[in-house]
Amino acid sequence: MTVKEKYEALLSEIEDICHSVGRDPKRINVIAVTKYVSEETTQKALEAGVQHIGENRAEGGVEKWEALGNQGIWHFIGSLQSKKVKKVIDKFDYFHSLDRISLAEELDKRAKPGQVIRCFVQVNVSNEESKSGLSKEEVLPFIESLEKFPAIEVVGLMTMAPFYEAPELTRPVFRGLRELQELVAAKQFTHAPCLELSMGMSNDYRVAIEEGATFIRVGTALVGKEF
Ligand SMILES: *Cc1c(COP(=O)(O)O)cnc(C)c1O
Repeated sequence: MTVKEKYEALLSEIEDICHSVGRDPKRINVIAVTKYVSEETTQKALEAGVQHIGENRAEGGVEKWEALGNQGIWHFIGSLQSKKVKKVIDKFDYFHSLDRISLAEELDKRAKPGQVIRCFVQVNVSNEESKSGLSKEEVLPFIESLEKFPAIEVVGLMTMAPFYEAPELTRPVFRGLRELQELVAAKQFTHAPCLELSMGMSNDYRVAIEEGATFIRVGTALVGKEF
């Protein structure tokens, strides 16, 4: 299948899933994660109508952005070292892995006057040692403490579920993130509307959508893996 065919199949699957759980398919944003594919394939995804591009590294991401950044909305989805902020801040529209005050501080410092830095706070819902992100208990105090950074807007929460052969096993992780998101949203912080949920990858996006995902990050299943 071409990227275009895969994208169309994905959109129609999203419609079916949304229909089955009573959600509006328009609320689901597909991020094509292009970290394993070339510029050419990324271009094909954009031509197929993909609106969101996700990259997880400053190096490869900036290179792709330089070639294609006049199209699409760009998401930085990987962990971000503070010293790389300068390189990426004017290129990416969303940052999915805010997990520490020092990073918020650097993003705020490097933002242009009036620039809004849209961030997801990354949560390690499953408490896996190998994963970054805050524990569930840390999230609310962390978000409260971001108020002092005027450029930072917390648009939502992000998580990576553990990899399971049976994606159904990820459900408690996604549900846990949604419950936390609802709790933060209910606080109605001006700096943290927190209405979005970035969750679900190639293996588990179906379950993530059923549990409320508004941004799914799909690499292999959409654009493939070339390196
Ligand atoms: C690589 C990556 C993805 C996409 O992974 P696939 O399994 O290829 O869909 C999603 N989110 C993050 C943070 C990633 O690093």
